[in-house]
Amino acid sequence: MQDQAILSRRSILRRGALTASLPLAAPFLATGFAARPARAAIDTPALSQPGWYRFAIGDIEATVMSDGPINIGASQEHFPQADPEAIEQVMEDAFLPAAPVIIEQNALILRTGDRQVLIDTGTGELDIFGDETGRLMDNLAAAGFDPAAFTDIALTHAHPDHCFGLMAPDGTPHFPEATVHIAEAEFDFWTDEALLGAGGMMAAMAEGARQNLLPLRERISFVEDGQEVAPGIQALATPGHTVGHTCFVITSGEESCLNIGDVAHHHAVSFRKPEWAFSFDIDPEEGARSRMRILDMLASDGMQVIGYHYPFPGIGHVRRADEGFRYVPKPLRHG
Ligand SMILES: [Zn+2]
Repeated sequence: MQDQAILSRRSILRRGALTASLPLAAPFLATGFAARPARAAIDTPALSQPGWYRFAIGDIEATVMSDGPINIGASQEHFPQADPEAIEQVMEDAFLPAAPVIIEQNALILRTGDRQVLIDTGTGELDIFGDETGRLMDNLAAAGFDPAAFTDIALTHAHPDHCFGLMAPDGTPHFPEATVHIAEAEFDFWTDEALLGAGGMMAAMAEGARQNLLPLRERISFVEDGQEVAPGIQALATPGHTVGHTCFVITSGEESCLNIGDVAHHHAVSFRKPEWAFSFDIDPEEGARSRMRILDMLASDGMQVIGYHYPFPGIGHVRRADEGFRYVPKPLRHG
């Protein structure tokens, strides 16, 4: 009896907290960046947030560097092919609320040979994803990384949470010595002036991409499928989420790990229901094909995966499941 009372009290508390958080979610899809609402206060007490996590991939020193968690709103808005009840069930089965969806931003630093590489850069100053984003530069400093020591920035794609951290608000580059690797199709798509006329979210994303990519044009190197951008780091074209989305395979000795970017966006939903497009997949069908191809490859050969948006630090493996696939997080103390 007592247990039941505690349980029901907990669930009431939880529901109350969620209802209070929902206004954070609503503006995300409804508006472009220009029309952003006033910053909403976080209802929960400040939570401690991990800043970085160091591990090894063979001889390569790897560090997951957080840009902070982002609030993307209600799950029902992000998986438009799913019935509301179906998406709620998938979230509930993963012990997650249907709303709001809070996901991580796991940028990755790799020291390989004489190169220091950062894969993806976080949201920069953009503040539409809640109050806890844009922490990358502070976390780099706290972990002892000098931004000027980065030789390479590799971008999986040019969405705000991956490339808006390239430039400081005053127009200076955060990583002044780095070559920026991005697929040519991705660069061309998001810097196309014509996209500014599209209005809404697309125009806002294009405007931010232009502000972050165009000033660095002379430092940009277009990466091709299969190309090695630094020793042991190989590009793998995975279009669909965006036109030039690129994963990176990191290999050293017997060990390898795939930086999957946003191919399988959510650690529970996108694995169990890989056929469901994510709302920001620019080509839903191609996105689903890339997702199934990559998850199938990971499940077949047991390669480690690192997911930009998976629970920190986002390192794990992929298993086939009765329905789709399953993400199996790796314990922190297992290398
Ligand atoms: Zn993303």
